[in-house]
This record gives sequence, structure tokens and C-alpha cells, in this order.
Amino acid sequence: MIDALAWDPEMESPATIAILGAGPLGIETALYARFLGYHVSIFETRRVAHRMLDWNLRPLEEPASNVTTSLGLAALQAQDPTYRPPDPSRVFNGKQYAEEYLLPLAKTDLLFDDIHFLSPVIDISRFRVGTQPLAGRFDEYPWQERCNDEFRILVDGRHRGTWVSRADCIIDCRGDGTHRLGLGPAGGLAIGELDACKAFLEHLPDDRKFDPKTYDAQAILIVGATQDACRTLRECLAYARHERLVWVLPPAQSDEAEFLADARLELSQQTSPSFVMIESLGVESISPQENGGWQVRLLKEDDSSVELQVDRIASRTDPLETLLGPTLLAYNPQASSFLESGLQQYARANPSQEKYLRSAREVLTPEPGYFRLRAERRWDVAFERLRSIFAILGGRSDLDLYEIMRKQQSTAPDEA
Ligand SMILES: Cc1cc2nc3c(=O)[nH]c(=O)nc-3n(C[C@H](O)[C@H](O)[C@H](O)COP(=O)(O)OP(=O)(O)OC[C@H]3O[C@@H](n4cnc5c(N)ncnc54)[C@H](O)[C@@H]3O)c2cc1C
Repeated sequence: MIDALAWDPEMESPATIAILGAGPLGIETALYARFLGYHVSIFETRRVAHRMLDWNLRPLEEPASNVTTSLGLAALQAQDPTYRPPDPSRVFNGKQYAEEYLLPLAKTDLLFDDIHFLSPVIDISRFRVGTQPLAGRFDEYPWQERCNDEFRILVDGRHRGTWVSRADCIIDCRGDGTHRLGLGPAGGLAIGELDACKAFLEHLPDDRKFDPKTYDAQAILIVGATQDACRTLRECLAYARHERLVWVLPPAQSDEAEFLADARLELSQQTSPSFVMIESLGVESISPQENGGWQVRLLKEDDSSVELQVDRIASRTDPLETLLGPTLLAYNPQASSFLESGLQQYARANPSQEKYLRSAREVLTPEPGYFRLRAERRWDVAFERLRSIFAILGGRSDLDLYEIMRKQQSTAPDEA
């Protein structure tokens, strides 16, 4: 692995790892790091596991055995010897998973002092190395010097104001997306959307913060060709207290076309006269009305338009990742190609490492020491990616703390 990169990625503990986001993955990453002896600082915009809490009473898609880990259960048992792990086949809902597993983990001695909540990271840079690699001369760039330089993390703390933290390594667990694509054609912004979005209806039926006063007896417009949109519409239809529910359905991404065709068929069979589905390229404009509602113009495929009036608008378009740290190379396309060519060379020379390399490729970025960890709704994939980050940092492709912990637990004398 080390040979594949232009820098040496190994990092001995105790070094400091900054973790962005205290969702399930941020918490798990922090645990893994602490078990290996690293210092951690976890930064969270809001509160620990708030997205899981928002998932509320909806069941998780996988049982407890897949969403808890040997490290998490060991940490909870060490903190409270009376703790009993959940039945492996139990299916938590979002609220239970947060309240019975993630929040107790965040409160363990291992993590409690290292979590900065209400503390969004607003910028990341290096301390000393500000130069960027020149196009076509990536081989000559001082990658190792950049790797040895600390990260400078600018935090906008609710309580502490704006302050700077330092770290040797960053693991970005900010989740699948903090913003959404615009409501306009091809994900662009509609005219008036920037002003209107402040009044968008964020919480719909089944959400933890849903307020019936914002929904009941109102004409609601939901825009999006996503799984999130389909789930939300089903929940709204089951709740059924709107005056009118309009689904604006933009063209789907090709990888979503199949599920959407099924969902569309299912939803179009709804007999409710108050439910309307309109296929459209997107929302062309949104204008406020004197009565507090919105005039919305939709653009059709043949360039014609449809006008409608609604009380509330909800966006359920695709999530969009906010790029953080414009001076970092993490999202630099040329640096990404340079990294990829190194990895391909390594893959050819080491075919036996294919599986490890697949996960490593998902987490490495061309910024030395900056890893990106996403779950993409598959916990096994997420935990394997997490393992591969620490295998890279530890310089051992077979380093697997989960396996070590499992072995320890199976050989420990039975206390009962
Ligand atoms: C609308 C919605 C839909 C969901 N859909 C599903 C689903 O389909 N299936 C499912 O299993 N679960 C779903 N969930 C539950 C859950 O959100 C995810 O499964 C899970 O939380 C993903 O874990 P994560 O750690 O990758 O990301 P998240 O839980 O999203 O955690 C990322 C954290 O990073 C924080 N963050 C972002 N930017 C910064 C920053 N700059 N600085 C500091 N912190 C930052 C965020 O505040 C957030 O707490 C959904 C939740 C919601 C609210």
C-alpha cells in the first residue's frame, strides 16, 4: 500500500486524528482510533447522532448484529458492567439506535471529552505548505513535506466562537450530503429558490420534528426523483391530512431509474383525489404570494410550462456534498487522477491485495492524511472502509481490530 502513494501514509500513535461528524460512522471511527491509541477530536455541527434521531421511529434496514460492532459493545460493557448487548436479530429504529447505542458510546470515558458538538468545521488547510502541485508535474511535488505538515481546522463553535484546532490526520464522516440539488432543471436553482428555500418544509409526517400545524389542510408540493422522495410521499399519503399533495417528478438519474419506475407505478395507483403527480424538467420559478403561499412554474419537456399555487414546498432532491477546504487537494481532479494511476500500478503488481485496495480506493483522497468515509447505506461496506483507513495508517493491510476483538471475546473466560 505504502508503495502506491507519493507519500508515506503511516502514522504512529499517539498522533491526533480529527473526525468530522458525530453520526454513526464518526462515533465508530473515533472508537477504532481510541482503541489503537490515537488521540481524537470529533467535531459535530449539531448534536451526536442527530440524523439518526431524525430517522425517528423508522426501522433501520439491517439488524443489530450489522449496525453494532465488537468495539462498540466492548466499550459499553467496559463503561457499565451491567450493560447487556442487544439481541443480534433485533431491528432498531433510528431513535432506539441513537439512544441505546450511539449516545451511550459518546458518553463513555473513551470519547466524552473529545466531542465538540455545536461546532461545525468551516475550513481546513495546512499550516505551512500552501503550494499546489503544478499540472503535469505531480511527480516533482513535495508530497512528503505536505504529509508531515499539520492540518489547521477552523471551527465555528456555538459556545467558544471561532477557533483553530490542529490534527495530523482528518477522517471526514460528514455523511451523504448536507445540501440538496436545486429544484430547477438538472438540479440547478429555480428563479426565487434562494429566498424561498428558507421557508421550505423540512419536516414531514413521521419525522421527529414534524409539526402538524405546518402541514394539515395545506397544499404541499414535494420535488424529487429520489428514494427519499418516494418514502416521504408514502408517509404523507398514509398521514392524509393535507388538502392537496403534488409530487413534481424530475427525470431520474440512470442508476435510479429502476426503483423509481416501481415507486411511480405504486404511487400512481393511489386513488386519493388530493394526490397529483407531475412529470417535469424541474421548477422554473417560485414567487411568494400575499397569502403566504407560493406561485410555482414548472418547465415541461416540450418547453411549455405549468403554473400552480401551493402553501408549502419540500425539497427531496439528491443530497449534495459541501466541499470543505478549498486549498486541500482532496477534491482536486488532477491530483485524483495522479493518485488513481499510482493505485492502478500497485494493483497490477499486487493482485492478491485486490479486496483491500478496493476499500482503500474508496477512502483515500489525494490530500495526504485526509480520508473520506461514507456509509452509502451499507454498514458492512462502511466498516470495511473504516478498517482499511486504519490499515493504511498502521501500514498493515491485514490490521483488523474487529477480528482481534472477536478473538479476544471468544477466548475470554465465561463470567457466567
Ligand atoms: C432524511 C433522512 C433520510 C435517511 N435515510 C436513511 C435510509 O434510507 N436508510 C438508513 O439506514 N438510514 C437513513 N437515515 C438515517 C441515518 O441518517 C443514516 O443512515 C446514518 O445517519 C448515516 O451515518 P453517517 O455517520 O454516515 O452520517 P450522518 O448521520 O449524516 O452523520 C454526519 C454528521 O456530520 C455532521 N457534519 C456535517 N458537516 C459537518 C461539518 N462541516 N462539521 C462538523 N460536523 C459536520 C452532521 O451534522 C452529521 O451529524 C436517514 C436520515 C434522515 C434524516
